[in-house]
Amino acid sequence: MKEYWQKDLETMHRSDLEKLQTERLKKTIEQASNAPFYKKVFAENNLSADSITSLADLQRFPFTTKNDLREYYPFGLSAVPLKEVVRLHSSSGTTGNPTVVLHTQRDLDEWANQVARCMYMVGLRDTDVFQNTSGYGMFTGGLGFQYGAERLGAMTVPAAAGNSRRQIKFIMDFGTTALHILPSYATRLAEVFQELGIDVKKDTQLTTFCIGAEPHSEEQRKRIEQLLGVKAYNCFGMSEMNGPGVAFECKEQNGLHIWEDYVIVEILDPDTLQPMPDGEVGELVLTTINREAMPLIRYRTRDLTCFITEPCPCGRTHRKIARLKGRSDDMMIVKGVNIFPIQIEKILMNFKDLGMNYFITIDTIGNNDEMTVEVELSEDIQIDDYARLQSLSREITRQLKDEILLTPNVKLVEKGTLPQSEGKAVRVKDLRKLI
Ligand code: AMP
Ligand code: ZN
Repeated sequence: MKEYWQKDLETMHRSDLEKLQTERLKKTIEQASNAPFYKKVFAENNLSADSITSLADLQRFPFTTKNDLREYYPFGLSAVPLKEVVRLHSSSGTTGNPTVVLHTQRDLDEWANQVARCMYMVGLRDTDVFQNTSGYGMFTGGLGFQYGAERLGAMTVPAAAGNSRRQIKFIMDFGTTALHILPSYATRLAEVFQELGIDVKKDTQLTTFCIGAEPHSEEQRKRIEQLLGVKAYNCFGMSEMNGPGVAFECKEQNGLHIWEDYVIVEILDPDTLQPMPDGEVGELVLTTINREAMPLIRYRTRDLTCFITEPCPCGRTHRKIARLKGRSDDMMIVKGVNIFPIQIEKILMNFKDLGMNYFITIDTIGNNDEMTVEVELSEDIQIDDYARLQSLSREITRQLKDEILLTPNVKLVEKGTLPQSEGKAVRVKDLRKLI
């Protein structure tokens, strides 16, 4: 069996890791100064690779934002001649220019290495059959996992997104043991298995799910694990940082190791931009230190998380971040209260009588902001059992009020009524912004 446990790197002593980071950071700054964007930024701030003598010197560098990527679209952050670029990924923004990320062959090799390392960490081996249900193409979850799984040596099934019956046929016929899947799609797939009368635990070889690309709660993970009889590991990535492979849970399932030989991690107060004390939630800010075509310095991800400080029993020394709480731009402010969709999900997932699909609408009614939470019922509950629905709805409202500090309108709807997106789940509609 081929081994993909990079023990020397993954369990490096922290002082050696920091030494490696400092060397790589210096090289990265030198490399970045070839890019038109950073050439300008460094000149304006009188910075260069010589400004780095220790890791703390990174703090002297300004942040990079998604807006910078948009403004310098498409090639203004390229730090190599374009003939050295072998792949471009682009993610469409809802406003303005899309963003572009460029890769040399070396960048792609390193990215595959990162993903293979993550997959090995959760127990996948070259004997596994790995089916990737991500969209291929510009979405990095497709090619990113594809090359990582091939590097690991698994038999890969690039099924791509959608068509649940076809996915299930592949799972059955090819003896698929592992899936990469959006958490919202995992729950949909569980329903289709049920509709087809297939007992996943008895009739398939599935053991491991890599779930990610969108926020999800611990409660949702538990449901996926129970429904499908698998272990589901949280994987986090974003196109600006290549895609999947940035951070991944180990078998402890308690936080995601973030590969610090590839990135320098900061967690900052989004308002003051000062470091948050360990264990307190702030914005994840990442600096690539092993990328050629497009280094990013202090990239503001907008994702909110905190460091987990206890050493991990798995022996890896790369720090862990907690399950992502959402993005700062996902935060809803209703009647002056800050609310993240994941807080609502966490409550809903604890009710056995509820299904997995929900939708939040915020609207102005009269002079007041109102929040409506529509949630699908599970199959086992009769839609005309009014007394039961009423008491269920009352209890959900009470628990939501305790969590989010305001009283939403709760609407229980029949299974299959709410929209189901093929890509990342869309959970919130804010009609106030349309006025
Ligand atoms: P994209 O660049 O389109 O792949 O989107 C990346 C974004 O998806 C990240 O910045 C996160 O907001 C979100 N995301 C990816 N993986 C996870 C995860 N495991 N948990 C929560 N959010 C995630
Ligand atoms: Zn660990």
